[in-house]
Amino acid sequence: MLDRIPSCQKIDGIWLYLHGAMEVEEIGSGEVALLSAIRKKVGYDIPISVALDFHANNSTELTKYANIICGYKTAPHTDMEETQIKTAQLLLKCIREKLLPKPVIIQIPLMITGDMVITSSEPMKTIIDETEKIERQPGILSASVFNGQNWVDAPNAGASVIVVPEKEEYTELAHNEARKLAKMFWDAREKFKFQVDAFEPEEAVEAAISAEEKLVFITDSGDNTTAGAAGDNAYLLKIILKKNVGHTLIGGITDSRAVKICESKRIGDRVELILGGELDVENSESVRITGIIKNKGNILGWYGEDGGKAVVLNIEGKSIDIIVTERRCALISPEIFESIGVNIYDYEIVVVKLGYLYPKLAQVAKKAIFALTPGASCEAIEKLKFYNIGRKVYPINKDIIFFDENKNVPLANKNTI
Ligand SMILES: [Zn+2]
Repeated sequence: MLDRIPSCQKIDGIWLYLHGAMEVEEIGSGEVALLSAIRKKVGYDIPISVALDFHANNSTELTKYANIICGYKTAPHTDMEETQIKTAQLLLKCIREKLLPKPVIIQIPLMITGDMVITSSEPMKTIIDETEKIERQPGILSASVFNGQNWVDAPNAGASVIVVPEKEEYTELAHNEARKLAKMFWDAREKFKFQVDAFEPEEAVEAAISAEEKLVFITDSGDNTTAGAAGDNAYLLKIILKKNVGHTLIGGITDSRAVKICESKRIGDRVELILGGELDVENSESVRITGIIKNKGNILGWYGEDGGKAVVLNIEGKSIDIIVTERRCALISPEIFESIGVNIYDYEIVVVKLGYLYPKLAQVAKKAIFALTPGASCEAIEKLKFYNIGRKVYPINKDIIFFDENKNVPLANKNTI
């Protein structure tokens, strides 16, 4: 990437589309490392504009390198294009008007599980609406709130607010608006709730069985591949195997060993396999199954790419089918299921390794149930082990005083541990 960036004499500005929660072993924030390396190459006289995910883990360091930082305003995300266009337009504005804005950031000591923070619902809706109002003010180029990616054990994990003033004279205004947003988010911390029924795993399965609606989705939320988990935990599958479920599909379990064993077999063959626990040795359980191979092939990836090899198995003697994938997969749309020959409408219950349902699944789900399963993406943030945060964050610490109520000033650095 660096090799492809010419030196600053030849370019007017840089536009980047990053996530914001890239954590690299032995480096730390991937975004900060990347931006710092780019600045070394091009200097500080040209603008850099960055589009980020709503789940970015931002830090003060990031704002030193970028002039424009905008995040999605939606979760589930539907404004990826708008955000990219917005940051590109702001970059052009900076180039034309020779602006080098300095974004203002406030890190909020908050780690709310992402699945509770839905931007079309309260309390986040009002906060997002406020960012839009702030952006309409003269002197403010953009205002974003970020929930952070709270399953990353890193110093920058957690919520933040970034407001970008057009020029230095608007910096104070940007600070005030950032403080307002940070306070709104902080004050709402106890109001975030799951938008769907959320139960302990066993209860979740029972609720799906007894649901009147058919095509019920159960999300195995502790093993959510879109949150970074391995997708190889057989914990929920074990519960389902013990229950008298209707026609059920397990929408993805990662196990390259199982897929390899099935490679030499044919459709209709019987296989004995141990599924799960291959990647996440700390959290994931495995289960022994006997299955009949229903289909084999390549599955579509999350972004439309090739997701690698996959096998569809029917558990012998039961009306339970399982999609086993060679690589970590996220089955976020009916098309991905179809790519391996599975029609989700054939089933009464579909189990997915996600958090909230992605829009295309939400559209077809008659009911969605959260199973609060253990794992790397466990919804109870306070149950996870964090070693690198280095400061007090809610809900791990509940005794935080973030705002000096009289001065309306954040006291975040007083909460360092
Ligand atoms: Zn996201």
